[in-house]
Amino acid sequence: MLEDKNKQRTSLSELGEFGLITHLTENFKIYNKSTQKGIGDDCAVIAQTEKEILVTTDLLVEGVHFDLSYVPLKHLGYKAIMVNLSDVYAMNAEAEQVTVSIAVSNRFPLEAIEELYAGIQLACDTYNVDLIGGDTTSSTKGMLISVTALGAAKKEDIVYRSGAKPTDLIVVSGDVGGAYLGLQVLEREKEVFKVNPQNQPDLEAYTYLIERQLKPEARKDIPRLLKDLEVKPTAMIDISDGLSSEIMHICIQSGVGCNIYEEKLPLDPQVISTCEEFDIDSTMVALSGGEDYELLFTISINDFDKIKGNPNLTVIGHVTEKNQGMNLVTRANQQIKLQAQGWNSFSE
Ligand SMILES: [Mg+2]
Repeated sequence: MLEDKNKQRTSLSELGEFGLITHLTENFKIYNKSTQKGIGDDCAVIAQTEKEILVTTDLLVEGVHFDLSYVPLKHLGYKAIMVNLSDVYAMNAEAEQVTVSIAVSNRFPLEAIEELYAGIQLACDTYNVDLIGGDTTSSTKGMLISVTALGAAKKEDIVYRSGAKPTDLIVVSGDVGGAYLGLQVLEREKEVFKVNPQNQPDLEAYTYLIERQLKPEARKDIPRLLKDLEVKPTAMIDISDGLSSEIMHICIQSGVGCNIYEEKLPLDPQVISTCEEFDIDSTMVALSGGEDYELLFTISINDFDKIKGNPNLTVIGHVTEKNQGMNLVTRANQQIKLQAQGWNSFSE
């Protein structure tokens, strides 16, 4: 898993900064009408429309947010885009443009950066997003990636974290906990590899979990699905730090409480079996794991019939008055206070 597959090594200095940007971005396509001018001038130009513009930025640092000993560069490029698109979809908006800036040390040859950009391009092509700018520079140590995404939505369609009301239902897309367990599996294999580099890991039982960690998909389909179902969420957020802390963000910003039901948490069978193998509590993993990039939202109880039975959506609880607090209702019907144990890069 840790083998360097880049046999050819071309030094980045051979191309120079301008040659590098041109080389890396020459095959990117433009998908959106609002992109008036992409890469190739002093600025990108975005057309004014009747829509609101949404902006989000994320900075990823080697050794803090990713470990290149088991994260392939192509996957890293893909995930760096997903993390940002997910934030745009969490506002019930369409993502249209991204900028990507990277700093790399001279330990990375051109072929490595090409791999990173292959992942970025795959993400842009799959999600119909335009790469419109960015910068490359050298770093003294390691790799940094900064992505900014721009989105658009009609003013009346934008969903904030602050609109949840008592009696609203709390809904999550897909399933949760997989990405965290994928990371645990990869960390374990890395330790095994350190002791015995000849050992080829058998990851068959964890394919879904590893994919959730290394190649997450942002839920572009959910805002569209909700529009088709004629449901506008009252509040929405994406799950980057963990279900529990995201629910708390919605509750605090909306001035409400919540009850989340342990038995309703959507778990993939691989999550359940791997939790048993690692001897960890699947509820803890579901609530605190993070990096699932699913969407968590609240809807009026009057909209329940519209989403009922949809395989993409699970009702996991409901919104209460603020003075009821933020609670998990266990399978034994006990109420315990929710805690934000989400993943935090400052808490190492
Ligand atoms: Mg977010």
